[in-house]
Amino acid sequence: MISNDHPRYESLISREKMVNAYNAGILADAGLIAHGRGEAFDYLIGEKTTKTAERAIKAGCAALILANNPVISVNGNAAALVSEDIVKLAHVLDAKIEINLFYRTSQRVNAIFKVLKKAGAEEILGTEEDALEHINGLNSPRGKVSKEGMLNADVVLVPLEDGDRTEALVANGKFVIAIDLNPLSRTSKTASITIVDNIIRVIPALIKKAEELKKFDKKTLKNLIDDFNNNDNLKESLKTILSSIEKFEA
Ligand code: ATP
Repeated sequence: MISNDHPRYESLISREKMVNAYNAGILADAGLIAHGRGEAFDYLIGEKTTKTAERAIKAGCAALILANNPVISVNGNAAALVSEDIVKLAHVLDAKIEINLFYRTSQRVNAIFKVLKKAGAEEILGTEEDALEHINGLNSPRGKVSKEGMLNADVVLVPLEDGDRTEALVANGKFVIAIDLNPLSRTSKTASITIVDNIIRVIPALIKKAEELKKFDKKTLKNLIDDFNNNDNLKESLKTILSSIEKFEA
């Protein structure tokens, strides 16, 4: 039992969720390693949503609201940490939820399906193996996508993605919004909009922002996207990391 006055409470709770998800077959072992890499970057950004990330959240949210067929891609890490919030976000945005895994096995797909169902999801795509298609440029199992979801999506939200898949999605004309604590990853550099922040803070922030931005007209939303420059935003995230190191005093 982790006491909630522990200084690393949030981080320890996330770790506990990851370990439980691993033991329940929701998460691949590599998912635990990816989480550790994320934790290190979270430390460096101060374990809070920066102003820079807030700008990316706003622009990403505008893109999701304006989308004709928005899809939220879910992997083991996302299911382990924020399944209920993902279901809420899909509801607010009228977006589809699709399971897409790097280490795809039918057992893991089923385990994640159950987690999402328990969290309240109605429709979950990416589960029926025979009905899946391949996205151009990725022939491994992670290229498998559903026709009504990712294949025909115009905007895709990808938490914790790998670089190859992000590249393939962008090359297939998708507007990709990535959530990645590492501003140096290939995903971060390739996505249309990268939110450099922890998924546990981003999904609730997107829900709140979507409720606010849904009242805006299309032109205002479009301007929010056009005014956003992903490269500049990534550089700002790196500056935050550098200045936190420069300010360090033992
Ligand atoms: P790329 O192929 O894009 O260079 P990678 O090899 O780092 O990236 P993965 O191993 O799939 O790709 O790692 C997933 C990414 O997710 C890592 O960059 C990690 O920093 C990030 N990450 C891990 N946990 C979280 C989290 N809770 N919230 C946001 N990002 C996270």
